[in-house]
Amino acid sequence: MTAQPEILIAGGGLGGLACALALARKGRRVRVLEKAAQFGEIGYGIQMGPNIHRVMQALGVMDALEPKAVFPDALVMMDSVSGEEVTRIALGDAFVRRYGYRYFVIHRSDLHGTLSSKGLVKFAERDGGVLVTCEDGSERFGAALVGADGLWSPTRRQIVNDAPRQTGHTVYRGLVPVDAVVDRQFLDSMVMWCGRDTHLVQYRLRGGTVMNNVAVFVSPRFRRGEKAFGQPDELHEMFAPAVPRVREMLKYISLERNWVLHDRDPVTNWTAGRATLLGDAAHPTLQYLAQGACMAFEDGLVLASEVARHGDDLHAAFLAYQARRMNRTARVVLSARFFAEVCHAGGGARQLRNDLLGRRSPDDPWEADWLYRGVELD
Ligand SMILES: Cc1cc2nc3c(=O)[nH]c(=O)nc-3n(C[C@H](O)[C@H](O)[C@H](O)COP(=O)(O)OP(=O)(O)OC[C@H]3O[C@@H](n4cnc5c(N)ncnc54)[C@H](O)[C@@H]3O)c2cc1C
Repeated sequence: MTAQPEILIAGGGLGGLACALALARKGRRVRVLEKAAQFGEIGYGIQMGPNIHRVMQALGVMDALEPKAVFPDALVMMDSVSGEEVTRIALGDAFVRRYGYRYFVIHRSDLHGTLSSKGLVKFAERDGGVLVTCEDGSERFGAALVGADGLWSPTRRQIVNDAPRQTGHTVYRGLVPVDAVVDRQFLDSMVMWCGRDTHLVQYRLRGGTVMNNVAVFVSPRFRRGEKAFGQPDELHEMFAPAVPRVREMLKYISLERNWVLHDRDPVTNWTAGRATLLGDAAHPTLQYLAQGACMAFEDGLVLASEVARHGDDLHAAFLAYQARRMNRTARVVLSARFFAEVCHAGGGARQLRNDLLGRRSPDDPWEADWLYRGVELD
């Protein structure tokens, strides 16, 4: 008997690896083609909603993650200009009763195995499967291709051929030992300090020993149409109106590099024949709901369940997968844009935000309820 052909996955990011694991658990042979020899963007923290605690348990990896994860007691929004609390979502017993699962944060490399191989350049349908051409000129035939190759996905270029939307939102990050952190009021929470066109996020990682710090601003130079933008002087200029305790926290941020954020408008098709897209290749989003990787994980499980359901008809499986994923991920992309406006509000919008959010109960998950309820898994 000949072995079933492999399903090829371009991209060994969080989405590609989750998809590989989910397919393997359904008995499919998979091969991950990863461009990078090592991973460049995994050295910081990532937040995982209860929808993903559930996914990790379904993948059988939560027991291994548990000792490294941190389970915050609340998501707290602070006004960085007045220094006052705006609102919070409590993550304790009532939250766990509501969703059945917990909210956790984790260092990306604790979530990520190691692998390396080679990058995809292009693909073509061939003989009832897909032929992938790699950067070194070699070719690999598979039963199908999942493009999990991130924001700049070459697989997406062939299927959709659109461009990422540049936003001018610029991110600097930094990790410091928790002992070095002076302001310890929110040590057990995920706290977000919001100002006009800025926010600063803090939460602990690695069993609570390390503080993850993320400072974000919308670059005025980008808004003026300048090509070079987002330098450290803009970071300090944008955080100047913040209360001293927030400006102090900028010392925990590394100025060595920044990330400029993009998303894409939702589309109505990610699939061409036996090739489809997953994760940031399919629906890159701004990080304001902290759900980009969460969506990639959900994608992986749903894709694997549709592959198991459709047997050899992988085109039908991919169409069924995208039908289940498209609206939920489009809602994440568009809600994240809205939530960026909420976090970065100034003037009357800030006053309205503080008033409306100040009146909600910490036990009401607000606009996140539909997300945290997760998706059907089998
Ligand atoms: C500042 C910031 C904070 C964030 N915080 C959160 C959070 O708290 N929670 C959350 O859920 N999400 C968060 N996200 C989003 C999250 O990081 C992404 O959505 C997630 O990493 C996407 O995973 P992916 O596997 O789809 O893509 P990627 O992680 O980009 O992986 C793509 C992989 O494909 C590889 N690749 C690229 N081209 C090729 C090729 N030609 N051939 C083969 N391989 C290729 C790349 O090397 C990479 O390894 C955040 C993002 C940012 C920028």
